Amino acid sequence: NAKKRPDVEFCFYSAQMNQKLQDRMRLEFDLWMALDRDEFFLEYQPIVDARSGRIAAVEALVRWMSPEKGRVMPDAFIPMAEETGIIIPLGGWVLNTACLKLRQWQEAGCRPLRMSVNISGRQFVRGDLCRTVEEVVEQSGVDPALLELELTETCLIKNVDETIAKLCRLKGLNVSIGIDDFGTGYSSLQYLKNFPIDHLKIDRAFIKNVCELPDERAIVDAIIGIAKAMELHVIAEGVESREQAEYLAQRGCDELQGYYYHRPLSEERLLEVLREERMREEAGSVWTGGAG
Ligand code: C2E
Ligand code: MG
Ligand code: MG
Ligand code: MG
Repeated sequence: NAKKRPDVEFCFYSAQMNQKLQDRMRLEFDLWMALDRDEFFLEYQPIVDARSGRIAAVEALVRWMSPEKGRVMPDAFIPMAEETGIIIPLGGWVLNTACLKLRQWQEAGCRPLRMSVNISGRQFVRGDLCRTVEEVVEQSGVDPALLELELTETCLIKNVDETIAKLCRLKGLNVSIGIDDFGTGYSSLQYLKNFPIDHLKIDRAFIKNVCELPDERAIVDAIIGIAKAMELHVIAEGVESREQAEYLAQRGCDELQGYYYHRPLSEERLLEVLREERMREEAGSVWTGGAG
C-alpha cells in the first residue's frame, strides 16, 4: 500500500537513528566509566636517531582495556572523547601518567629519554593546557626539557593570535612543541614562521610510498628542506622498511619512528628493549636497525 510507505520509511530510519544515538550515548557513558575505573593505559613507541639508530624518545599512545570489547585503539574513542569533552580529563591523565613513568624509569637508572605526548585540538583550545602541563611537570618532577607536546595543524590555525600566546606560555615552561601528521592539514608556511615550534613530524601517508613514488618523494624532500631551513627538528613516522629508513636518513631527517624499528610497546617491553640496547652498546657493536 503506497499510502503507508512514508510511515514505514520513517519508522525504519528513526529506528536506525535511535540505534546510532544509543551506541554513541553508550560509548560516552563507557568512556566516563573507563576513566573512573582506570581502564586506560599507555604504550610507548620508540623514536630513533636516524644516524645512530639509538632510541632518542618515546611517544605515549593511549589504549583502552574495555571489559566488554577488550583492547580498543585510540581511533575508536578519541573522536568521541573530543566531542564530549572527556578528552580534557583523559588528556590530563595521559600527560600525568607519561611524566610519572618517565621519572620512574630515570630513577630506576634509565638514561634520559624524551617523552612525546599527543594533544588533541579541543584539549589545546578549551582546556587550560598550560596549567595542566605546569602542574604535571611539577608533581612528577620530570625535566620539562624532556617533554614534548604533539599538536596537529588543524588545532593551531583556528585562532592564530591566541595560538601564538598559548604556545609561548607553553614554551615558557621549557617543554618542546611539535606538529604531528605534518602535511595533511592546512600546512601554511606562514605559521611555521610565526609559531614557536621545535619539530615537525612528517605524516606517515607520505612515508608509505617514499621509495616508489616521485611525487611523494618530492613532498618529503620539500618538508625536510623547509624544516632544515627553519632550524626545526624533523621526524618521520610510519617507517616500515629499511629502504625508507635509509632514504630518510640520507635526506637529513633527524629521527625515525615506525614498525621497522619498533611497534608501540608495553612499559615492560620498552624497558627490556632499552636494556638490550645498552648491552649492545656496552658490547661495542653497532646496531643498524631491524624489526623489533
Ligand atoms: P599519531 O600520533 O600520528 O600516532 C602514530 C600512530 O601510527 C599510532 O597509532 C602508531 O601505532 C601508528 N604507527 C606507528 N608506526 C607505524 C608504522 O610503521 N606503520 C603504520 N601503519 N602505523 C604506525 P595509534 O596508537 O593507533 O594512534 C592513532 C592516533 O590516535 C595517534 O596518531 C594520535 O593522533 C591519537 N592518539 C593516540 N594516543 C593519544 C593520546 O594520548 N591523546 C590524544 N589526543 N590522541 C592520541
Ligand atoms: Mg603523535
Ligand atoms: Mg603522527
Ligand atoms: Mg597520524
